Amino acid sequence: MSQICQNIAQIKQHIPKEVLLVAVSKTKPLEDIKTAYQCQQRHFGENKVQELVEKQQKLPRDIHWHMIGHLQRNKVKYIADFIYLIHGVDNLKLLKEINKQGQKHDKKINILLQVKIAQEDTKFGMDIITLQDIIQQYNAKAFPFVQISGLMGMATNTSDQQQVANEFKQLYNLYQTYKKAVPSFQYLSMGMSGDYPIAISQGSNLIRVGSAIFGARHYNV
Ligand SMILES: *Cc1c(COP(=O)(O)O)cnc(C)c1O
Repeated sequence: MSQICQNIAQIKQHIPKEVLLVAVSKTKPLEDIKTAYQCQQRHFGENKVQELVEKQQKLPRDIHWHMIGHLQRNKVKYIADFIYLIHGVDNLKLLKEINKQGQKHDKKINILLQVKIAQEDTKFGMDIITLQDIIQQYNAKAFPFVQISGLMGMATNTSDQQQVANEFKQLYNLYQTYKKAVPSFQYLSMGMSGDYPIAISQGSNLIRVGSAIFGARHYNV
């Protein structure tokens, strides 16, 4: 068995069945994705629109593509017709643009609202006031071509496991609260290679794992 498939099998063995594993293939070649596909992996995540579109065009149609990175408004149109889930929606203007593109394609586009839970300044994500406002508007049918499928967040990049657990817990609590008001809630996306066991212990049901499957990424500068 290839290393990639061994890694996937190893991760799956240690996570509950209900947890969706998204294989983050950013910067990785088509061959790596094909290898993972051959061992039944169907959910893949990318963080750059151009790379995502190129890969989507060349790979099997039954792959579920996740946009996990920061998404610029003017690029929503390139992924609207095929994207399975957009994770990083953290402002109202972006949400409105996604709604507009959904209308053009006469479909609901699935998204997650990204909430800022990390202490660091560098992480994207909305604050809780904005979250509340967007959910209220959504429930008042302001975005008929969007389906809000849940929440996404990233913990602080720290070796302090207690802090990471606390941040995930905070997001889990928000998820539980809003799930009661929003029937379309289905996914709580939290956890990456370095922290997914903690994320699952705090209630995650979708993990985004890159380097633990495909190996370290090499960025060309
Ligand atoms: C790159 C990335 C991941 C995967 O990171 P790994 O540490 O390689 O597992 C997960 N989520 C987001 C938003 C990312 O950008």
